[in-house]
Amino acid sequence: MSWEDNVRKVVPYVPGEQPKMDKLIKLNTNENPYPPAPGVQKAIEELKGNFSVLRKYPAPDCEALEVALSEYYHLPRTRIFTGVGSDDVLSMAFLAFFHGDKPVLFPDITYSFYDVWAEVYRIPYETIPLDENFDIVAEDYNRENGGIVIANPNAPTGIAKSAEWIEDFVKAHQDTVVIVDEAYVDFGGQSVISLTDKYENLLVVQTFSKSRALAGLRIGMAFGCEKIIGYLKDVKFSVNSYTMNTPSLILGVESIKDDEYFREKIEAVVKTREWSKERLKELGFAMTDSKSNFLFVSHPKMAAAEIAAKLREEGIIVRHFNKPRIDNYLRISVGTDEEMQILTDTLARIL
Ligand SMILES: *Cc1c(COP(=O)(O)O)cnc(C)c1O
Repeated sequence: MSWEDNVRKVVPYVPGEQPKMDKLIKLNTNENPYPPAPGVQKAIEELKGNFSVLRKYPAPDCEALEVALSEYYHLPRTRIFTGVGSDDVLSMAFLAFFHGDKPVLFPDITYSFYDVWAEVYRIPYETIPLDENFDIVAEDYNRENGGIVIANPNAPTGIAKSAEWIEDFVKAHQDTVVIVDEAYVDFGGQSVISLTDKYENLLVVQTFSKSRALAGLRIGMAFGCEKIIGYLKDVKFSVNSYTMNTPSLILGVESIKDDEYFREKIEAVVKTREWSKERLKELGFAMTDSKSNFLFVSHPKMAAAEIAAKLREEGIIVRHFNKPRIDNYLRISVGTDEEMQILTDTLARIL
């Protein structure tokens, strides 16, 4: 017997790298290329004059942030959960809702954290293959399950399902919790937050990291009926009460206040995404119809890993997943117009 026999052994999730090189064009982790709303910066200045707020514990119920979210989404606070990035929200949701012997289902190609949470919490799971166009086949989920997780738009494919499709899907699976991860929904998907009025078993998860350009603050949230959010809060407050720090709570509120800036920057990203799609098609790339802030592309003449390595030599970092079915694809985050111009010019040279 060794102490190591009792260790909860896991293979951790590997996030995209955050290299320390200067003058890098970083298109590997779907960060927003624009700064957060000006009000966020102003609030940081104000925090400097009031830094003793850090002496006290933060509000464990995330009050100010949840009130702001409640007004923005027209939902009572009892139907909103906040966490330290949607990774924390999803992790708590896996812990709270997937507690049986039947397998939790999610696509074979999706956010690669889902299977890691299932493993660490010892939750049985099965992956359901996407079809040859990387599309989700609803009928394939018609089997006994302990819950279902769908990212919409999906990652890393960027493919979005309509709100009607999601509603039919949730309707067909009312016996288990269905989590819809809407990390990228603001860039062109249809949110199903309003369906939580109707379906008790639906949990919709979103984040400030992508569309609100605040990945560094770590703010995520979930929406559902009062009962499902209550269960989620019970688990969260059984693990750690003070997860979200005071600056994040203050700055998160400022981001929500400036809706005009939010919409303007999303529009800019979408415009650049569509421009980039055309330019990459001209270069011979095949791609999915991404509705998110990244592109999922493949080239018939050069292997994705090779393209990624050559881009890297030129100071451009994109994401390559060394995984079955997608190892000849690259996930390229949508940067500024200038960054995407440099990217496509560089690709033209490499190819
Ligand atoms: C980025 C991402 C998340 C997590 O983002 P946070 O920064 O933890 O909020 C969750 N789901 C998907 C599909 C993502 O791409």
